[in-house]
Amino acid sequence: MNELLQNLVKLQSLEFAGVKDKNTEASLAVLRAKIPSQMLGHYDRLVAHGKKGLAAVRDQVCTGCHMHLPIGVVTTLMRDDDIQLCDNCGRYLYLAEATKAEVPKPTAKPGPARKPRKSKSSLLLI
Ligand SMILES: [Zn+2]
Repeated sequence: MNELLQNLVKLQSLEFAGVKDKNTEASLAVLRAKIPSQMLGHYDRLVAHGKKGLAAVRDQVCTGCHMHLPIGVVTTLMRDDDIQLCDNCGRYLYLAEATKAEVPKPTAKPGPARKPRKSKSSLLLI
């Protein structure tokens, strides 16, 4: 991913995490210093309106406003050529790492704890 975008993504996740300690504030200051003021200004305007300044793109759809994006926008993002804004909601766009990261994990669901397995202990008795 484009380094600028990466910084914006980090900035947003820090700001929306709602943690206000010294470490976070220091990281925010560092990130903000790396981002050009023009981008930061646009981002801050969106945040000031109660929106997120960045939206992930998933299946060619802006997750901020759920509008289908032109393929040109998506390919530009894929090639890391340029920063792209959503035409509809004006958010900065970044590609969600859906293709590799969204494989459902075979983790056990924390469902109702019924039927305690007794098979193991009964096996031990044999
Ligand atoms: Zn949008």
